[in-house]
Amino acid sequence: MNKQEECLVHIDEPQIMRLLEKRRPDPEQIREILAKALELKGLDSSEVATLIAVDDPDLLSELFSTARRVKQAIYGPRIVLFAPLYISNLCTNECLYCGFRAGNREVTRRVLSQEEIAAEVKILVEQGHKRILLVAGESYPDEGFDYIIKAIGTVYKTRSGHGEIRRVNVNIAPLSLEEFRQLKDAGIGTYQLFQETYHRGTYAHMHPAGRKRNYAWRIEAFDRAMQAGIDDVGIGVLFGLYDWRFEVLATLGHINHLESTFGVGPHTISVPRLEPTTGSDIACSPPHPVSDSDFCKIVAIFRMAVPYTGIIMSTRENEDVRRATLALGVSQISAGSRTNPGGYADGIMDENAQFQLGDHRNLDEVIGDLATLGYIPSFCTACYRLGRTGEDFMAVAKPGDIKYRCDPNALSTFLEYLIDYAPAETQTAGERLISSQLERMSARERATASKMLDRVRAGNRDVYV
Ligand code: SAM
Ligand code: SF4
Repeated sequence: MNKQEECLVHIDEPQIMRLLEKRRPDPEQIREILAKALELKGLDSSEVATLIAVDDPDLLSELFSTARRVKQAIYGPRIVLFAPLYISNLCTNECLYCGFRAGNREVTRRVLSQEEIAAEVKILVEQGHKRILLVAGESYPDEGFDYIIKAIGTVYKTRSGHGEIRRVNVNIAPLSLEEFRQLKDAGIGTYQLFQETYHRGTYAHMHPAGRKRNYAWRIEAFDRAMQAGIDDVGIGVLFGLYDWRFEVLATLGHINHLESTFGVGPHTISVPRLEPTTGSDIACSPPHPVSDSDFCKIVAIFRMAVPYTGIIMSTRENEDVRRATLALGVSQISAGSRTNPGGYADGIMDENAQFQLGDHRNLDEVIGDLATLGYIPSFCTACYRLGRTGEDFMAVAKPGDIKYRCDPNALSTFLEYLIDYAPAETQTAGERLISSQLERMSARERATASKMLDRVRAGNRDVYV
């Protein structure tokens, strides 16, 4: 038996290649698929392969407008905000695209102490953040994996004024079943991990040394996480390493595996695109560059194919790309990010950053922009706090009921932000946005939201349903 057959998650490369060889699809067939997408039940691999082949400008614009309608129907105007927290750039791997790879001498190694982590968190809390994504390279200081568990504890117990971090998601290397159990006990929100590329040949080339060489250990990580009781997982590939068309279909293959094995797919899909970094030629000149228009198509196709899975857009992308993809399907964005350990306290992005950023605006500038565009910035963490994760989340989300909780929760957490952290100008724009959103709500929703907003105005915090 070869390695590929041994793997729990089977990505059928020949089958994906066959699907991608499809002839130019006829407009009628494409419109049928787009009509199906509007039923909000998702699309299968063959339908997605057909959409991937769309290049006629008129059909492409129909594809984008369908994705916008799906996005609007499920997520409305809400956009959830978070910040990454890089705690260490130590790493024993040699990923050719990453600034943290072991052989990169241009990076100064830094592992934050628990005090330094608390200092970073305090800064994020004082900006108004409520959720963070904890990130580290694949090597921990002497205390081993315990370092991560302690760091999560430090984040949750750090407070400043009214504020605290209410949800810690993590993006760290694949763990053993026992370590995943510890991660679950530490109270994480989502366990996020990117396969980088599902294409085995490319994977082997990009990961010449270290534990990350093992494709199966990585692709099976979500199976172990789910077995350990972590049912919110975040999937993704690093676009630019291999043909995006293949990666989109392979991602769907991985999602199908999780759905058929555990009854629930990923909570989120991330769409990182390769960014330049120190000490990596590949990062500066991607082998399979993805154009902005194909990138928008990727987001739109994911939105239609897996409508109830959130899509995350990081500050790797510039403001224009972020704005365009918000409308097409993105539901969560980071803001004011630093990708160097200690970057918030240091106030700079230096050569120790994992990669360069495309969006350098601070949280308040991003919020001002969202509000101007009519989006409601949300700091909601209710589902995870109420144990509405995995299958329980999908049971509320799929009939469309989640909206009646997300909308009021978005408004109450946004109001918290406006009162506690926003400058006067954002406060005025934000209050206007809240009033106009209340007017648009059904009577039932408005009654719930108004009560919650009154409680926040009266000084209560962390008000959610
Ligand atoms: N070290 C862990 C791992 O590799 O799984 C987790 C953290 S790693 C810092 C997070 C992600 O950053 C990687 O999975 C990869 O997709 C992404 N990344 C690495 N180099 C990048 C680059 N040059 N541009 C954009 N994203 C990059
Ligand atoms: Fe290390 Fe992760 Fe960077 Fe690879 S991507 S070098 S594992 S930090």
